[in-house]
Amino acid sequence: MPEQGQGKGKGKGKVTRQDAAAVWHCWNQMEVYLQQMFTVIDDAEGVEMTDQDGKVYLDANSSLWNVNIGHRNQKVIHAITEQFQRLDHASLFLSTNSPAVHLAKKLKEMTGDRYGHVFYTNSGSEATDTAIKIARQYFYNRGETERYKVISLHRGYHGSTLGAISACGIPYDKRAFGPLMPGFFQAVVPDPFDAPEGMTADEWAEVCLEELRLLIEQEGPETVSAFIAEPVQGSEGVCVIPDSYWRGVRELCDRTGILWISDEIATGFGRTGRMFAAEHSGIWPDLMLLAKGITSGYLPLGAVLVPKIVFDEFLGSVKLEREFVHGFTTSGHPVACAAALANIEVIEEEGLVANSAAAGSYLLEGMLALKERFPSIVDVQGKGLLLGIRLAKWTGKSPMTAEWPPAMLAMNFLAKRGLITHAAGTHAVVLAPSLTFTAEHCDRVLQAFAQVLTTLEKIWGREKYV
Ligand code: PMP
Repeated sequence: MPEQGQGKGKGKGKVTRQDAAAVWHCWNQMEVYLQQMFTVIDDAEGVEMTDQDGKVYLDANSSLWNVNIGHRNQKVIHAITEQFQRLDHASLFLSTNSPAVHLAKKLKEMTGDRYGHVFYTNSGSEATDTAIKIARQYFYNRGETERYKVISLHRGYHGSTLGAISACGIPYDKRAFGPLMPGFFQAVVPDPFDAPEGMTADEWAEVCLEELRLLIEQEGPETVSAFIAEPVQGSEGVCVIPDSYWRGVRELCDRTGILWISDEIATGFGRTGRMFAAEHSGIWPDLMLLAKGITSGYLPLGAVLVPKIVFDEFLGSVKLEREFVHGFTTSGHPVACAAALANIEVIEEEGLVANSAAAGSYLLEGMLALKERFPSIVDVQGKGLLLGIRLAKWTGKSPMTAEWPPAMLAMNFLAKRGLITHAAGTHAVVLAPSLTFTAEHCDRVLQAFAQVLTTLEKIWGREKYV
C-alpha cells in the first residue's frame, strides 16, 4: 500500500499531507485511511473519477450509492447556478420558496399521491430522526403517550446521529456511544442467505415475520410507535428482503396501528430498478425517508414523506398546542431543492430507472457466474444497481489477511485495478454505481473482480474458506 502523501502528481502530495494533518474523515480509522489507494480525487465525469496522480477509476460506488445520474451533469449544475442567482436561501421557518414547493408537489406525484406533506432535512440521518420524532409526537398528540418504542431490523442502517444509531441493527456502529435512546428493539432480518437449509426465502421470511409479531406482542403493541426498515439492506452487505415480508409487515402495522417507516434513502430514485423500491411489491409504507439520490448528492438534501392521516394529528388552532417543534436552519434549501428537481428530470428523461433494472440484471447474472468460479464468493444478491458480493470467512494465518478483513482487502485490490467499490462490514463488497452504467461498464467490473479474486484466492488459499 502507498505511504501517506505519496501522490506523484505535481505538488499534489502536499494536499494529501495537509489532508492528513487537518481532516478527520467519516467512518475511518485514520491510520488505515492514510494507507489507502487514493486520497485526493481531482475530478469526476459520468461514471469515472480521476485521482491526484491522473489515474482514472470506474466509480462503481457513485460516491456512497448517491450520484444516481453520474458526475458533473450539466443540467443539474445549470439549475443550481440559476437558483443561486435568484435566491440563495430563505428559511422554511418563516416563509417558503418555489423550488421547495415544486419539489414537494413532484414527490407527492411520484409516489401516487399517497403522502400529503414533505418534511425537508439535510441528510438521511436527519430524515430518520425526523420520522421517529413525527411517529412519537403523532401518538403523543392522540393522547397515546406510552407509544414511544421503535422496532427495526438486525443489520439495518439508518444513519449516524444518536437517534438513527439507536435504530441501527449493527452493534459495531453503536458500541462506543451508549447509553443510546431507550425503547429501541431489533428483530431478525429475513436475509435469504440466512435461511436454514431446505427453507425457501419466503418460508424464512415467514419465520422472521413471526418473530417480529412475537416481539411486538411481548413489548405490547400499545407501546410501539414505529417499525423502521430498508426495503433492501446494504450496509452490512446487500440483503433483498422478500415481498412476502412486506405484505406481512403491512398487515401487522394495519392491525396494531404501528407506523411503518420505510428507509428508501439508498433505494430511492431508481437505485433498485424502480423509482422507489416499494414499487416492486406494490406495498407502501406509512412514512418514507429519502436522501442521497434525491439530488444525486450534488447538494445535501433529505425528506420525509408523511401521509395525511399523520399530518392531520399535528393541526390545531393554538400555535404551541400540537405543532411539530422540529426542523433545521437549511430545511427546504431552495438551491438543494432546485438541484433535486433537475436531477429527477434527468432520471426521468434519460430513462435511468429502466437502465438501472437492465444493467443491474446483467451485472447480477455476471456476478452469479463468478460465484460459480470462485469459492471465495459465498453469496450474491442484488436489485437493480445495488449489488452485494459476500466473501467467505478466511481461517488462514497470513499476516495480510489477519490485518485486512476480506472485503477491505478486495476493495483495495479492486481500487488498484481502477475500480471503486465499497466494503460493507468485513465480508461484503457493495456495488452501487450511477444508473447510467452500461453493459461495457458492467463487463469492466466483472473483469476486475475475476482478476482480483484470482489473486486473492492465491493469498487466502482455496481450502480455507468457511
Ligand atoms: N439510511 C440508509 C439506508 C443509508 O444508506 C444511509 C447512508 N448510507 C443513511 C440512512 C444515512 O444517510 P446520511 O449519510 O445522508 O445521513
